[in-house]
Amino acid sequence: MAIRKQLVQVQPKKIEMWQWQPPPLHPGVVTMAKHKLQLEDLSQTCRRDHYCVRCVHAFCSHCCDDHHFVPLGSHIVIPIAGVDAATGKPVIPAHYPRRPDLPITDFVIGLITANDFAEEHPRDAYCMYCFIAFSTALCHHHHTCAADCVLRIVRSHDGRHCVRCTGDEPWFPYMESVLGDPVAVEEEEGDDGEVVAVLLLLPVLRRSSPTACVHCGGEVPKHMRRSVLCSPACDAAHQLEVAQRRERRDAVLAARRLAKLNIHAV
Ligand SMILES: [Zn+2]
Ligand SMILES: [Zn+2]
Ligand SMILES: [Zn+2]
Ligand SMILES: [Zn+2]
Ligand SMILES: [Zn+2]
Repeated sequence: MAIRKQLVQVQPKKIEMWQWQPPPLHPGVVTMAKHKLQLEDLSQTCRRDHYCVRCVHAFCSHCCDDHHFVPLGSHIVIPIAGVDAATGKPVIPAHYPRRPDLPITDFVIGLITANDFAEEHPRDAYCMYCFIAFSTALCHHHHTCAADCVLRIVRSHDGRHCVRCTGDEPWFPYMESVLGDPVAVEEEEGDDGEVVAVLLLLPVLRRSSPTACVHCGGEVPKHMRRSVLCSPACDAAHQLEVAQRRERRDAVLAARRLAKLNIHAV
């Protein structure tokens, strides 16, 4: 009995030790993600277009393909061509890919049909590790790509795509130069209704092409293509603008804190 008790006490600790943690995001990767985010079309939507039998999961190939692909692995992925306009049911092939001898059973057809393959979902997140915008409704894997690697993307009231963040995230200093002035300040409440975080909606400053200057939008000369700025003048102006935006952001947060203090003082 004494031995058994000891085992029960020791085991939870062991499990804790082996708990897997995503690796930290390298600043160089965040810098690359920043430039890619500026070029990403965040207005695009996603819908389910594949079904993995092993994971029992309908997914969007744009967001989630890599998560159901392991060389020589056991994911069994069925492409869904779309939804039949007449019946509203997904168009399911008769047999498994490259296996004409293996028909898809009624049981699996039932599992597939239970999913919505027509609804379009917004790309409401961006993975800084994979450099892609994705839909959190259709893929839940990117949070494990690296630590703190997922940006939350929301539409502001004027239709702009914004990153929803506190400004204290570890990636923020590497990302701030492509995020504009706050368009809204929101509060996140915990389960007990207490404010747990003040969140800023910062619009993503877009760039028309990979060779467009981050500051003026003009073409970066060929001999300067290692840079994202077209001239030393643009470089200096850009740095100044980023510093000024930082000051304005701090002022917004300070005003918010002051307003809160006044409310509590009344
Ligand atoms: Zn997708
Ligand atoms: Zn996924
Ligand atoms: Zn899978
Ligand atoms: Zn990812
Ligand atoms: Zn320029």
